Amino acid sequence: MLDERETRLGDIIDDFCVKCKRIMNHAVVSTLEGKPAKVRCWTCYNDHDYRHELAPPPKVDPRKAALFQEVLEKLPGAGEGDAETEAEAESTPAAVKTKAKKAK
Ligand SMILES: [Zn+2]
Repeated sequence: MLDERETRLGDIIDDFCVKCKRIMNHAVVSTLEGKPAKVRCWTCYNDHDYRHELAPPPKVDPRKAALFQEVLEKLPGAGEGDAETEAEAESTPAAVKTKAKKAK
């Protein structure tokens, strides 16, 4: 039995197609050491690296990312480090804060 036969150019294998967003038949268009390196989707003809049938990680919602960025920009003193210090002082008990100051 030849269970571990080498993958050859033109072989049809299953892989995840990012355009079809599902496992589709792919033709091997490039191999590396007997393993599929690049494949082409038989449905949309998209060439891509062989993904071992894995779906890509979910993308960040661009609208949420924009909203988050908007909130960041509205923060006073954002990017200057002052806002961070103030927030830290608020959550730190006064006694600990004094101790910390003496230690420094
Ligand atoms: Zn496809």
